[in-house]
Amino acid sequence: MENKKILILGGGTGGLVVANELRKKLGKEHKIILIDKNDKHIYAPSFLWLMAGNRKAENIQKQLEALKRKGISFVNEKVTSILPDKKTVKTEKNEFSYDYLIISLGAELAPENIKGISQEGYNLYKLEDVERLRDGLKDFQGGKVAIVISSLPFKCPAAPYETAFLLDEYFSKKGMRKKIQINIFTPETLPMPSAGPDIGKRIKSMLEERNINFNPEVQLISVDADNKELKFKESKDAAAKYEKYDLLIFIPPHRGSNAVIDSQLGNEIGWIPVDKNTLKTKYPDVFAIGDAASIILDSGKPLPKAGVFAHFEAEVVAENLAAEINGMAPTKTYDGKAYCFLELGYGKAGFASGNFYAKPVPLVKMKKPGRIWHLGKVLFEKYWLWKWF
Ligand SMILES: Cc1cc2nc3c(=O)[nH]c(=O)nc-3n(C[C@H](O)[C@H](O)[C@H](O)COP(=O)(O)OP(=O)(O)OC[C@H]3O[C@@H](n4cnc5c(N)ncnc54)[C@H](O)[C@@H]3O)c2cc1C
Repeated sequence: MENKKILILGGGTGGLVVANELRKKLGKEHKIILIDKNDKHIYAPSFLWLMAGNRKAENIQKQLEALKRKGISFVNEKVTSILPDKKTVKTEKNEFSYDYLIISLGAELAPENIKGISQEGYNLYKLEDVERLRDGLKDFQGGKVAIVISSLPFKCPAAPYETAFLLDEYFSKKGMRKKIQINIFTPETLPMPSAGPDIGKRIKSMLEERNINFNPEVQLISVDADNKELKFKESKDAAAKYEKYDLLIFIPPHRGSNAVIDSQLGNEIGWIPVDKNTLKTKYPDVFAIGDAASIILDSGKPLPKAGVFAHFEAEVVAENLAAEINGMAPTKTYDGKAYCFLELGYGKAGFASGNFYAKPVPLVKMKKPGRIWHLGKVLFEKYWLWKWF
């Protein structure tokens, strides 16, 4: 059997799982190289606890260098281009050839696409901003909190809603909830629409119970930081809408990696179309998983971007690739199953699970919220940061 070289781009959720699983299944004669521009893996679901002052930044990160102990080579460099015709990847400093390529570069955040948004708002998806937000919340005296989803798609469709629930708890415990108005603005029609209308309606009514305002179908176009005002796009039925805020938390526009856009592997915004069961791209021996991949469901909506998909897709690719390299037939397919915790504050969470490939629409159900699911989310965090390092 020929020795193979497997290149994994990205050491986030998908990259980490695929590297570990392949290492377990393949002999040492096969090389596994993981490239990431960051030297650390950051566990993003903990950002919301960090915001609320319940985590320290250093406790939700791990050095990718630690993978070397397991026989996975780590290269701390930025990928600049992918040349599938030449089976080559370029970084800022080097060039790497491969036999198999797995792209798990995630989503790029593009706050620069919305004028004024970065001037004083807090980017919920950036570690440093979440730390600033935690400090900003301590000094906040009251007023309007705006949680703004600036465009679709965005990763972790639950995160803005979890943020609202945690802020409701945070301000209530400080005895100042009555001085705070929490507003969510989103282009979505319902919360988490890709999980189906039942989940959406349920979350909407939970928001109402907690006195959190849900403003659907609004598209942010700019932020006037001097006047603390959000501007939403006009539609055929409505004029442009303006909303004041005192504290702005935003989810920036997402797009694919520049390296993907330049490689012609992806579409114009850099998402890579893949086979929904095997995660194969149009190029032989090239796979894309996680947020970087684009899968369109039978409902016409894209498969959401979330760690759970990256994780399960990574397992499928690892199993099939290892089988192929070991001379066996690949048998595993990704079946669309997924689950998600929905943090609700006060030590409780909801738990939604189901099948996103169900026809004609995803079949996802949510369990009765309770302490058990919050505990599950906490245990999962500990497990994640132990299991893969
Ligand atoms: C606040 C928050 C909460 C979340 N909560 C949940 C949750 O509860 N459940 C859930 O399922 N998902 C959650 N998610 C989403 C989840 O984190 C992502 O969907 C998941 O990490 C995607 O995995 P990935 O491997 O595709 O990309 P990522 O994990 O984003 O990894 C991409 C990696 O590629 C690297 N990279 C990017 N560009 C380059 C380049 N040019 N060169 C080299 N390296 C590069 C990055 O540094 C990164 O390490 C949350 C996200 C956030 C922000």
